[in-house]
Amino acid sequence: MPGTDILESFEKYVRPFRVAKGKGFRLKDFDPADTRGLKMEKKEAADLLQGGSEWLATEQDMLYAQDRWSLLLIFQAMDAAGKDGTIKHVMSGVNPQGCQVYSFKQPSAEELAHDFLWRYAHRVPERGRIGIFNRSYYEEVLVVRVHKELLELQKLPTELVTKRIWDERLADISHFEEYLNRQGVIVLKFFLNVSRKEQKKRFMERLDRPDKHWKFSPSDVRERKYWDDYMHAFEAAIQATATLHAPWFIVPADNKWFTRLVVAGAIVEAVESLNLHYPKVGAEKMKELAVARAELSAEA
Ligand code: ATP
Ligand code: MG
Repeated sequence: MPGTDILESFEKYVRPFRVAKGKGFRLKDFDPADTRGLKMEKKEAADLLQGGSEWLATEQDMLYAQDRWSLLLIFQAMDAAGKDGTIKHVMSGVNPQGCQVYSFKQPSAEELAHDFLWRYAHRVPERGRIGIFNRSYYEEVLVVRVHKELLELQKLPTELVTKRIWDERLADISHFEEYLNRQGVIVLKFFLNVSRKEQKKRFMERLDRPDKHWKFSPSDVRERKYWDDYMHAFEAAIQATATLHAPWFIVPADNKWFTRLVVAGAIVEAVESLNLHYPKVGAEKMKELAVARAELSAEA
């Protein structure tokens, strides 16, 4: 169990950003710079995050031992919103053996030859594991929706490509997530909500710092032209797929310390609700353990 104060502190930072019902969702109601009025010292945020990570490490051990549930964490965002850094910080301390991270890039020829969920479906974490999708099947209703020429590469029969295609895909995604949930996969989705202004600042930083040059891609700047189209696509996706069984978290991303706090808190809350415990050992197993103890003690 996490300390009650850790849980309570997390709760007030997580609740306001949790969207479990898509109807009526509006992106404009969420401020990327929100910190809940909290002017927390970075040190305080770091301590809380540290507490959350340690707690998560113990829980992950139980998740693994129990081998029933798994956790799928999906990260979607505009560039430079801090996906990589958030994943790195929130998962630090977690045993790498129980954790898998997949970064989805432009699809390969083999992937394009299949239905759109194919490449994601077989990366869903197995029981007992935490799986992280750095980008996900949501790209199929985000980048592909904004750049329609990408849809042509998917070689769908033309009569299936109608103006309803995005709504159809969103319905398929929502059903897929419901299916996963019925299979014991807890799905949490994070939209790191960075402002256009902060993105520009971060791109500038990348240009100013030689150690960040590798992160800079000219195409990221070109994508800024499509900002409004992306926001529209995000809003439609969240409206269609935010449910109790697969909630979205609209995480303010203009302040990195706050982003990490909200994400860590959301994970802690979801895992907490599973009430994990180590598997109980039966009488037969206890007998085996006693025999093993006797054998070891008898060794010279
Ligand atoms: P970083 O830039 O932090 O290293 P990234 O996730 O932005 O990480 P990139 O290699 O820069 O990685 O970009 C991956 C690109 O692949 C993105 O532009 C994304 O939109 C694109 N992509 C991902 N999935 C699909 C898809 N299904 N169809 C087309 N493009 C996709
Ligand atoms: Mg990139």
